[in-house]
Amino acid sequence: MVEKYHYIIYNSYMIYTIRKYGDPILRKKTEPVTEFDNDLKAVFADMLETMYASNGTGLAASQIGLSKHMLVLDASTEEQTIIFTLANAQVVEHSKEKTEFEEGCLSFPGITEKISRPSSIKVRANDQDGRELLIEASGFLAIVLQHEIDHLNGVVFIDRMTPIRKMLHSKELKELKNECKKSLK
Ligand SMILES: [Zn+2]
Repeated sequence: MVEKYHYIIYNSYMIYTIRKYGDPILRKKTEPVTEFDNDLKAVFADMLETMYASNGTGLAASQIGLSKHMLVLDASTEEQTIIFTLANAQVVEHSKEKTEFEEGCLSFPGITEKISRPSSIKVRANDQDGRELLIEASGFLAIVLQHEIDHLNGVVFIDRMTPIRKMLHSKELKELKNECKKSLK
């Protein structure tokens, strides 16, 4: 019984293809969300399913080819469920102190690298219903939020790598770009 129920629910979502490095949409600044209707909620739900299907912890709308200021993330721990579906998220304050964390990105399969970012941040955003939120984040949540907000501004994690670290990935990056070129033809 449980399995059947799960199947029906799962089947009602749409799993999107994740756009990879080289796709121009990843470099586009996204448009603000102004309508908080059921269509928006459906896209957020699809984004969450797409993220889970790819074993990601965060996903920005540009990564599914949608130039809207929307992000989803699941930074849950064993103690706490932390799932966000946010529109128009902006970092409004950040600490001087920085943390290094090994990041990956669904648009850059196979590449991980240490990235330095502010350790704690304040983020203003809207929830699915348009309510204003102020999120104070540190640790893993702060990293995922900054990574996804970057995406929505056309910034990807290789832009945050030190030049030497980026150079170490130049071969993989070139391969990804070539694959993307082929798939866009
Ligand atoms: Zn990413």
